[in-house]
Amino acid sequence: MKRVLILKKGIPPATRNRLVNGLMRLPVKYESGLWKGEEAIFIQGSSSFSPWLLTRLPGVREVVQPSTPYFLASRDTREGNTVIQVGSVRIGDGSFVIIAGPCSVECREQIIATAKVVKKAGAHLLRGGVYKPRTSPYSFQGLGKTGLQYLSEARKLTGLPVVTEVLSPEDIERVCSVADVLQIGSRNMQNFPLLKAVGKTSSPILLKRGMMATLEEFLLAAEYILSEGNDRVILCERGIRTFETSTRNTLDISCVPLLKELSHLPVIVDPSHACGRRSLVLPLSRAALAVGADGLMVEVHPDPVRALSDGFESLDFPAFTALMKELHRLRHIFQRS
Ligand code: PEP
Ligand code: MN
Repeated sequence: MKRVLILKKGIPPATRNRLVNGLMRLPVKYESGLWKGEEAIFIQGSSSFSPWLLTRLPGVREVVQPSTPYFLASRDTREGNTVIQVGSVRIGDGSFVIIAGPCSVECREQIIATAKVVKKAGAHLLRGGVYKPRTSPYSFQGLGKTGLQYLSEARKLTGLPVVTEVLSPEDIERVCSVADVLQIGSRNMQNFPLLKAVGKTSSPILLKRGMMATLEEFLLAAEYILSEGNDRVILCERGIRTFETSTRNTLDISCVPLLKELSHLPVIVDPSHACGRRSLVLPLSRAALAVGADGLMVEVHPDPVRALSDGFESLDFPAFTALMKELHRLRHIFQRS
């Protein structure tokens, strides 16, 4: 449990030193930071000390216990919104960013053709899985290293930054050599060793919500990454499991404004995995824009019927181009760049 020591305004360095020397003698971990814009020291392991005792420490104005278990992800410890720069793209600055591409990289021609089309239609980043978390061990598992080479070529040809999933800590270095953004998939949202390992990198992390995860669990997963020192986390709502079986998942659209209320991190929506039906991707994308998401991640395939994974929810090229036109129109209405 963390406690926050809010410091008196303009405390002299000598008083601050006395405070830090005092904390050094206590069995607590501490670090400096800002709390709602004020200078503070966060301490951990202080549950056996009464707040009254902590208030008596030199230079301390007030002792607060955070109301949420996630700390770095909450709005309490950061002013304004986190904006994540990927190449020339900014995520979280009020613009609406589009990440598009196939569920899986299947061959060189497929990813390069897709990259060219999504770029021309106005997408900002290219997605494509090469390490695939498949429910069945007999399903296509992704092209691995070869797929990374194809992604790297597509990136070079189009200039689009690349988002791809990393499944295990051993692959991080290799994936980082090509990817501009590392994706942590829904099934790995609570793979704590993986979260800690990507937290030690400096790459932006696209963290997908676990299909059974509450928002508190989601934000605590982000906290794992942030607490390792990587503060470039993008949250992605991709649908949760409910009793409804007519869609693959249920898009929890209300979580978008709520996450933005609770956290400073950018929030994007993946309508493809949320509904699992091509025909619903456009209406759900409209909803994501209207509700204040920072962007979308959409699956696009040259020939969805023949896709090796998630063809049913993938848009073909004309449908993706139509989606981009519609979003362009809506951006004006909602005053989003
Ligand atoms: C994907 O993006 O292809 C994917 C596997 O998504 P999720 O982890 O949300 O199921
Ligand atoms: Mn997919």
